[in-house]
Amino acid sequence: MLKAIGYFWELLKGGWITTRHFMTNMFHHTLRLFHIKTKRPGAVTYQYPEVKKPLAARHRSLHRLMTREDGKPRCVACMLCATVCPSECIVIEAAEDADPEIQKVPKSFTIDLNRCCFCGFCVEACPEDAIRMDTGVIDLARRSHDDLIFGLDKLLK
Ligand code: SF4
Ligand code: SF4
Repeated sequence: MLKAIGYFWELLKGGWITTRHFMTNMFHHTLRLFHIKTKRPGAVTYQYPEVKKPLAARHRSLHRLMTREDGKPRCVACMLCATVCPSECIVIEAAEDADPEIQKVPKSFTIDLNRCCFCGFCVEACPEDAIRMDTGVIDLARRSHDDLIFGLDKLLK
């Protein structure tokens, strides 16, 4: 019996919190509707996709590969990102570069975003700052799995 009372008490408390938030938000929305300024920030509802929520500076979004001044990828195909990736979704094929300073370049560089968990380990591991996750692209829903396999062409864009 005591358990049941406790259960309903918690239920009422939860209902009260929800109602309180609803009424407070409704009150401030109504004031704003009449252009009356309140101390509270704007509504927390974003009319996505027309209005997009600003992303935090450290938000991890779609990857991109960085380029050198001459347009070549900054990546030296060291495989560190592929090795550290917990989802094993990075596949790199290395090729030799004529420049002895660079030595190796990626002949192909593929990230299978179907498997990526956006942990950011690849970015952390890269010694060349050649891969970043700062594009701000988060709408990655695609109709086909193949469309989520990103190669050099897409990653260098
Ligand atoms: S973000 Fe994580 S899972 Fe995705 S490619 Fe990088 S290391 Fe792999
Ligand atoms: S860790 Fe950086 S340099 Fe090494 S293969 Fe990955 S992207 Fe290229």
